[in-house]
Amino acid sequence: MTASIREVLIIGGGTAGWMTAAALAKALPPGVRVRLVESEQIGTVGVGEATIPPINTFNQVLGLDEADFMRATKASFKLAIEFVGWMGEGHRYLHPFGNFGLDIEALKFHQAWLRALHEGWAPPIDAFNLSAQASHLKRYAPPARDPGQVLSSLKYAFHFDAGLYARYLRAYAEQRGVIRIEGKVAEVRQHGETGFVTGVALESGQALEAELFIDCSGFRGLLIEQALQAGYDDWSHWLPNDRAVALPCVTGGDGLTPYTRATADAAGWRWRIPLQHRTGNGYVYSSKHISDDEALSRLRATVDGEPLGEPNFLRFQAGRRKQAWVKNVVAIGLSSGFLEPLESTSIHLIQAGITKLLALFPHTGFDPVEIAEYNRLTALQVELIRDFIILHFKANGRDEPYWRDARAMAIPQSLQHKIELFAASGRLFVSDYDLFAEASWIAVLLGQGVVPRRHDPLVDALETDALKAQLSRLAGLIRQTAEALPPHEAFIARYCAARDPA
Ligand SMILES: Cc1cc2nc3c(=O)[nH]c(=O)nc-3n(C[C@H](O)[C@H](O)[C@H](O)COP(=O)(O)OP(=O)(O)OC[C@H]3O[C@@H](n4cnc5c(N)ncnc54)[C@H](O)[C@@H]3O)c2cc1C
Repeated sequence: MTASIREVLIIGGGTAGWMTAAALAKALPPGVRVRLVESEQIGTVGVGEATIPPINTFNQVLGLDEADFMRATKASFKLAIEFVGWMGEGHRYLHPFGNFGLDIEALKFHQAWLRALHEGWAPPIDAFNLSAQASHLKRYAPPARDPGQVLSSLKYAFHFDAGLYARYLRAYAEQRGVIRIEGKVAEVRQHGETGFVTGVALESGQALEAELFIDCSGFRGLLIEQALQAGYDDWSHWLPNDRAVALPCVTGGDGLTPYTRATADAAGWRWRIPLQHRTGNGYVYSSKHISDDEALSRLRATVDGEPLGEPNFLRFQAGRRKQAWVKNVVAIGLSSGFLEPLESTSIHLIQAGITKLLALFPHTGFDPVEIAEYNRLTALQVELIRDFIILHFKANGRDEPYWRDARAMAIPQSLQHKIELFAASGRLFVSDYDLFAEASWIAVLLGQGVVPRRHDPLVDALETDALKAQLSRLAGLIRQTAEALPPHEAFIARYCAARDPA
């Protein structure tokens, strides 16, 4: 006999736990009780500040007021990631959100641009992307709704304090009936025959039972790994970074930029993420190539203001849980795996996990075919993101041992094929499940020095003077639109200034 699930227990109250709780509170019918247990004693990872545009959909589905959410999380806007030094000192490029240019009937815009490049008269590709131009000028205004306006092409996400985001969603979820329980899980109880999880016991002795368990317990994977032994696919041979040190500071330097900066360093890379009240900084590195002390001293030497608080060291292993859903346990967040934060994909993967869970929400019979589908889609999505991240390391132009090793490594066949195909004539075939659309691949492939040898021969049929005029007009329109936007900092001050910015 199968019936509707009536009891859900979320283990963990980090960003993953509270995003899940908020979404379930919004989406599930009345009569389903959702409880969340978390331990203040254990705490959360406490980093994670940059997001990507799909977070807007998540916030909109919840019905959050954007300005209110930004005030509460001390957020700024993010239009791009600036990559500095990945092809050698002094080199930089942007991976902006949104598309490059406009396709010319059936011809891809980037193919027309490649022809211009091969003929020696192309402006930089980012002249054709509004989010990139607004980033260069440090400007922002909301995108226009009218698709006929250039401003409609602006795409954005946020930099925010993920701890404050979790707190904000906690209030949202509790208002809608989610019950929070403070306590540390000491024991996971399983059915003697089926192995299904029946409940958890807290250190206090309190027992909590449920039908569906969401494991948001972070790297430790309390249910999915420690109890159910889902297994882990280790990807550290492709992504050897296994440590990070975070050190926020007073905002200085370039100020409140509407973009994240990722700067290549001797044995990894450093992030700079400006929020309203501080700038988040960190160094992600390989412990085989650099010591913790040296990583911290390189980070300290490069932050652009007075450090705030003590450095926070974190350890991780790139990879994914072999199965994110086992029996009646679904792992969401760090419990399901981790890819380094280079393209700000972790919070997105939480969102993607929640979306799939709701699309395949189980009944008490837990149909294996639905569980298998969840796991299949999760594997596909994470592997596509993995390839995109590996690309940044494989196609680098630096000279330290760490970077030489990265250039020499064998990469997944799926990525090798993509690089070779693009390098030939700029062709790209992006899967429907790929979080990163064609424009993202183009930005990073070109930025990392993978420049196609030829272009689509069909664009040679375009009349040269007309094409030159068209590209020049488009770049001009995009530039003028960007120039007419208010400064990012002024827009934040007017629209969503945090009440207690300190
Ligand atoms: C260096 C670094 C930088 C990052 N930067 C970004 C970024 O820029 N953008 C991005 O999208 N993501 C980023 N991330 C990832 C992001 O931080 C996480 O995806 C996000 O915070 C979700 O974490 P979580 O909720 O899964 O786990 P956690 O934050 O670890 O939360 C785990 C929860 O489980 C609870 N818990 C654990 N054990 C028990 C127990 N026994 N009993 C009760 N409760 C328990 C804890 O108390 C806590 O509430 C970064 C991660 C790292 C490591």
